[in-house]
Amino acid sequence: MSLLSKSHTTLHPALRTPHPAPRKSLPVMESFYTLQGEGYHSGKAAYFIRLGGCDVGCHWCDVKESWDASLHPVVDIHELADLALAHDPGMVVVTGGEPLMYQLYDLTRALQAKGLKTHLETSGAYPVTGDWDWICFSPKKFKEPVEDIYRKADELKVVVFNQSDFGWAEQHAGKVKGDCKLYLQPEWSRVDKNMLLIKDYVKTNPQWRISIQSHKYLDLR
Ligand code: SF4
Repeated sequence: MSLLSKSHTTLHPALRTPHPAPRKSLPVMESFYTLQGEGYHSGKAAYFIRLGGCDVGCHWCDVKESWDASLHPVVDIHELADLALAHDPGMVVVTGGEPLMYQLYDLTRALQAKGLKTHLETSGAYPVTGDWDWICFSPKKFKEPVEDIYRKADELKVVVFNQSDFGWAEQHAGKVKGDCKLYLQPEWSRVDKNMLLIKDYVKTNPQWRISIQSHKYLDLR
């Protein structure tokens, strides 16, 4: 069957852009106050909200327990904002799982109404919802990003699992906006080997920087 309907005006459901419903509450795997360990804002104090639910399926994922949203309690967005504000953090990082499986405008409004900076970490697999002060885009080979993310990302962070990931990283770097920060981060299970590969790559491609998961080295929690 064709993916276009007979009217030629209505797309087949498989081709429609998902428009998730507004959310006053969200499944939360965990939330905690710590330091941002990776990327451009590494070393800054941050309150993390890790939403449950992800259908991207990275085989090396280090938070597989986040995948099944039904395993995690559903928390009111204003309660989340109050929890974050109690620590008076410099910023709130919304991560996952894949946060953009949900519509996040109400969450970001609740956070910004309390004067909190909103940061997003996403694979870009769904259209961006929410008002963000910073978007870290970390594409994954297992589910293609939607085009929307390229003009919105402030930071491109590519996890390097093997040599072919450098060429793949460059494909994404060619599509993001000119002032987007570029990071290569070694996949943790191969960190020693991949760190050497990244070091050599950055020396010959200095527009990139290394992102180190400093929270794993220092056990920051
Ligand atoms: Fe895990 Fe993130 Fe990949 Fe989802 S997108 S499978 S949470 S690494």
